[in-house]
Amino acid sequence: MTFNEAPFSINIQFTTPRGFPGQGTFRSDDWDKLLESYLEKERNLVEKGFQVPPLKVFGLKPQKPIEYVEGRVCPKCGSKLVYFEVKGKKNIKCFTSRYDWKTKTTSGCDYIEWSNSMEKPKETEVDFPDMITKAQETLLNKMKTEGTLPDSIDINSLSKNEAKETIQKYKTW
Ligand SMILES: [Zn+2]
Repeated sequence: MTFNEAPFSINIQFTTPRGFPGQGTFRSDDWDKLLESYLEKERNLVEKGFQVPPLKVFGLKPQKPIEYVEGRVCPKCGSKLVYFEVKGKKNIKCFTSRYDWKTKTTSGCDYIEWSNSMEKPKETEVDFPDMITKAQETLLNKMKTEGTLPDSIDINSLSKNEAKETIQKYKTW
């Protein structure tokens, strides 16, 4: 049998155990024999660490569907607003804004609202709504130092409202 006579062939592509691309062709004039021999060779290649080359995918990455901000429009131009993500945080920008990768410039409306959820809320504002605020504490301490606040008042035991009342009662300005 010569190659020219073989009417059947199977062409395979593989990646060698060290990562090189390769390919091989099986030929036979008998399809059943060819298949049998191919499957045997295939098993052999797998055992020796040959791998199927990764599939090449051409074209654009699937785009996320555009998510519009409901019930709001761009305060600058009145277009729709859309969400866009940076590092997992949702920000808002004007729908008309575009970025040109070729010229590295932006076009369209430049309205952007950055998410401020990166900033951790202050503990006193979230967990202890009644707690004296830092500003009140600073002010009361200043008043105590200046002598406008009676020594009997324990700043640390005051609630937010008590601190407010105390400041109003003893302030000299
Ligand atoms: Zn706009």
